[in-house]
Amino acid sequence: QDVVNRIAAGEVIQRPMNALKELIENSLDAKSTNIQITVKNGGLKFFQIQDNGTGIRKEDFEIVCERFTTSKLTEFEDLQKIATFGFRGEALASISHVAHLSIISKTKHDICAYQAEFNDGKLKMPPRPMAGNQGTIITVEDLFYNMTVRRQALRSPAEEYQKISEIVSKYAIHNASIGFALKKYGENNDIRTSQNSNCTENIRLIYGNCIARELVEFDFENRDLDFKVKGYMTNVNYSHKKYQFILFINNRLVDCQGLKKCIDAIYQTYLPKNNHPFVYLSLELNPRNIDVNVHPTKHEVHFLNESEIVESITTAIEQKLLGSNN
Ligand code: ADP
Ligand code: MG
Repeated sequence: QDVVNRIAAGEVIQRPMNALKELIENSLDAKSTNIQITVKNGGLKFFQIQDNGTGIRKEDFEIVCERFTTSKLTEFEDLQKIATFGFRGEALASISHVAHLSIISKTKHDICAYQAEFNDGKLKMPPRPMAGNQGTIITVEDLFYNMTVRRQALRSPAEEYQKISEIVSKYAIHNASIGFALKKYGENNDIRTSQNSNCTENIRLIYGNCIARELVEFDFENRDLDFKVKGYMTNVNYSHKKYQFILFINNRLVDCQGLKKCIDAIYQTYLPKNNHPFVYLSLELNPRNIDVNVHPTKHEVHFLNESEIVESITTAIEQKLLGSNN
């Protein structure tokens, strides 16, 4: 059974960044306003995420790592929403099957924090009381210690750290009112955003002034197709070697190749060859229209009226860019 669970977990958690993304989302779901991440060896040896959110009650320690346990079901009106965006109670369970997981947490109702370690979905020992502030510290060590082949395939800590850094950057841009920090263990912060920052300021901090000063704001709504989209993107005059495409749908970082390709095509029409834009979009769709058949571990998302919505967004972006270019 452990082997079956481990294989399933290994599908959800492919590399450190997948685990970290889930943990960041948990911290956001817990209404944190400050999220600090520390990484050793690209997350392969150790990574830790500390938040100041609602915390986990002592009595819930027992179940947080059981598969399919979630405290979030009641917050959502229907199953569709849950099936779509990973509210599936699998992240902590999966991590506990492929790494050494430790949780320290304190709610505002408890007088002290509790600490516990988990293995294969289970508590190793009852939670121990300890000093601590409200919020949660999750430590993940020796990722894939029990999956030799996977571990050997992930040979470059630098590459893993780069991917972690990209994830943190994207969440920091999308959640500008939340303070994010990312550092390598024992070193200074590589990313540090303030709690009362804004989106463009964070783009400037993380991606630099060259991009920030070329940004065009985009804000568009289509009532017939029932969606809203906001974001920032570089002007067609601006060009960059690396394509940055950041897409959040209903506040989850996702991929949507259809939309990406269409937006890229606009820029390719106007930008010099081999130059690329920076694009950040936050799309709000009616959750009912998001395809629940997509496997929850895949970040590629499909939704109802996808081609119409993609076309509508693409047309609006093209107009905006051409308008702002005059
Ligand atoms: P899900 O997010 O789908 O509910 P997870 O496995 O990611 O499942 O987390 C399981 C449960 O653990 C959550 O429902 C939540 O109650 C609790 N939890 C996890 N991380 C945190 C956190 N940082 N702060 C507060 N509660 C958390
Ligand atoms: Mg989660």
